[in-house]
Amino acid sequence: MSIFAAMKDRVIIIGANGQIGTELALALRGKFGYENVITSDIRAPKTLAENEVFETINVLDKEALSALFDKYQPTQIYLLAAMLSATGEQYPQKAWDLNMNGLLNVLDLSLQHKINRVFWPSSIAVFGPHSPKTDTPQFCTMDPNSIYGISKLAGERLCEYYHEKFGLDVRSVRYPGIISWKTEPGGGTTDYAVHIFFEALKNGTYESFLSENTALPMLYMEDAIRGTLALMDTPADQLTIRSSYNLAGISFTPKMIAEEIKKILPNFTITYAAHDPRQAIADSWPASIDDSSARKDWGWTPKFDLTEMTADMLQNLKNKS
Ligand code: NAD
Repeated sequence: MSIFAAMKDRVIIIGANGQIGTELALALRGKFGYENVITSDIRAPKTLAENEVFETINVLDKEALSALFDKYQPTQIYLLAAMLSATGEQYPQKAWDLNMNGLLNVLDLSLQHKINRVFWPSSIAVFGPHSPKTDTPQFCTMDPNSIYGISKLAGERLCEYYHEKFGLDVRSVRYPGIISWKTEPGGGTTDYAVHIFFEALKNGTYESFLSENTALPMLYMEDAIRGTLALMDTPADQLTIRSSYNLAGISFTPKMIAEEIKKILPNFTITYAAHDPRQAIADSWPASIDDSSARKDWGWTPKFDLTEMTADMLQNLKNKS
């Protein structure tokens, strides 16, 4: 057994207070223990339990980040800080700066600090109008036209480059739209599929910013976290993709999700906004994804279908209120 295998893992999550980080931190704490999960973000969390370790950090401040690595001697890094698709279109330069230089800082420092494994998520936004629309394959034409998608595609190339050239064990998935109830989403094009549940319970109605037949790939948070941990646990020699794995869950349209909600809340109504800039982004993205490489290499299978996810979302949001 190598000394690394014998050593207990300690992880730092960067951008831990967002939609995914909040739940990933819970899962990682369950796995490695509170003292071995350091959460960090540019803003402090609203609440912090006594045994949670948190550090305020800007991922663009490389010196501070290096000091953080020195302080905690992590074995794994999860980089979640990013500007998402819809917000990115409002601030393209800032989105590029955060998404690219944040990643470069982490890759570079991970090499210097001999980090065992790095996780960085890409997105279905790496595909574009000339990519096949359904069952979008792992390898195909990729011509993203949002600054977010462009930065994610460049990020994938950087991850593969650091793996091939320097041997850094960096792993990635192309998350679809993530649906969850614990933390609200952070400005993406698929956020409607989360807002719709909050509004259905609060007001019984929802105005969708995407048109009724816009199909997009989505994934329930529980599946996303399980998949992320499974990828990070897979022996390195089983992984054939070092850019980013396609990952699929459920593909549906606003109309389909509204119909599922109506089965539980029969009075729920949905309307559709006439014009929204997010529609153009959604129109350039796949409707469904072929994730056979992830299934083959590390046994990926999602558990939640649309009906199960809808019931689980509504139940958890009801319990929360
Ligand atoms: P989010 O916006 O909810 O959270 C991002 C977090 O990063 C926030 O807490 C924010 O405060 C923090 N942050 C912003 N700037 C920072 C900085 N300079 N330094 C440190 N922290 C900073 O995002 P999320 O939905 O949790 O997404 C996490 C990752 O997953 C991102 O890379 C995103 O592109 C990717 N992803 C998310 C989805 C989704 O549907 N949520 C889909 C595909 C890919």
